Amino acid sequence: MKMSSNERVIRELYEITSAYQSGFAERARKLLALGCERFGLEIGILSNIDGERYRVVHQVCPDEVPLADDVQFKLPETYCAVTIEAAAPVAYEHVAESDLSAHPAYAQFKLESYFGIPIVVDGKLYGTLNFSSPFPRERQFDEIDYDALRLMAIWIEAEISRQQSQEKIMLQARELAERNRQLREMTQTDPLTRIGNRNCFFQKLEHNLKFAQRLKVPLSLVLFDLDHFKHYNDTYGHVAGDRALATVAQAVAGLARDTDFVARYGGEEFAVLLTDTNYKNALATAERFRAAIESVDDLDCEVSASFGVSTCLPKADDSSDFEALGKRLIEEADQALYHSKHLGRNRVSHYNSLDVSDRSA
Ligand code: GH3
Ligand code: MG
Ligand code: MG
Repeated sequence: MKMSSNERVIRELYEITSAYQSGFAERARKLLALGCERFGLEIGILSNIDGERYRVVHQVCPDEVPLADDVQFKLPETYCAVTIEAAAPVAYEHVAESDLSAHPAYAQFKLESYFGIPIVVDGKLYGTLNFSSPFPRERQFDEIDYDALRLMAIWIEAEISRQQSQEKIMLQARELAERNRQLREMTQTDPLTRIGNRNCFFQKLEHNLKFAQRLKVPLSLVLFDLDHFKHYNDTYGHVAGDRALATVAQAVAGLARDTDFVARYGGEEFAVLLTDTNYKNALATAERFRAAIESVDDLDCEVSASFGVSTCLPKADDSSDFEALGKRLIEEADQALYHSKHLGRNRVSHYNSLDVSDRSA
């Protein structure tokens, strides 16, 4: 069966446009090449128009024509200004013999034939699809040419619309993810010290206990409380006190390993979870924190903190009650901290080395 010219264009257009794996740029260029061949014109352009700015988005042209993607012109200096004005397809077979011969684009580019159509995406002018040639066209553009041009324009419009809504969805998804991240950070971070808050500490404690049990590694908890901090506040003011809290928190956070977790447990009390850390190493780490706090030197006066450390190695059989395990770890560290205060402050005690008489549990 012999295909009509119209059917052939539709078929070729379908083959180009349905090759989704090629991406828009490649399909657009193939479509422009098809138009050039179909209309017998050398230059094919998909343009984007923004006010008076005319930008070549994609193009096909012979080597000798100095045209490239992203080249810009002024809209009034192109034939497309006429197409936009007409808001319809515009065709010129021989510009020299037409009313367009006085157009500035003719003087500048000497293009004798032109066939263009506005591209309108979601009700908004996007640009034009246009074909042109430095040579006059021997025969008139006919209905089949117009139909083919309209079909190409429809596909381009649909494709750009699809791209734009996809970009919009991607942007919205990115914004949403960012907002969620900020929200999560807000609910987990103490705003003054920028370390984890109490809520987050309890979540991490349970998580770390499970982790310790599964991997059969010890978990240590360091609690520390700033010494005579009421006096610090009374002497230097609450704002200076706030600054001291933030500085101390950052000093400790800076020393902690990536896998450790530093949180503000309450007022001037902090907690650090040390993953996979035994009694001996926990004591040494707490001692490093203590020394770092003592040597912070950009505050109104020196500060110190008293430390309590506890360590556990969750057994497989005390599996389910992580809440009770966590509570015990905190109580033990708290007792050790109390012991440090009692001994004169600015020191580290581990629950395991307390005298039995010091242990209330
Ligand atoms: P000790 O060595 O026994 O711990 O003495 P202390 O003065 O630190 O203990 P106390 O519990 O009597 O006082 C804690 C002080 O910490 C009082 C409170 O105003 C201060 N504090 C708690 N939270 C904040 C805070 O967010 N900002 C400031 N500036 N001070 C705080
Ligand atoms: Mg205190
Ligand atoms: Mg306190």
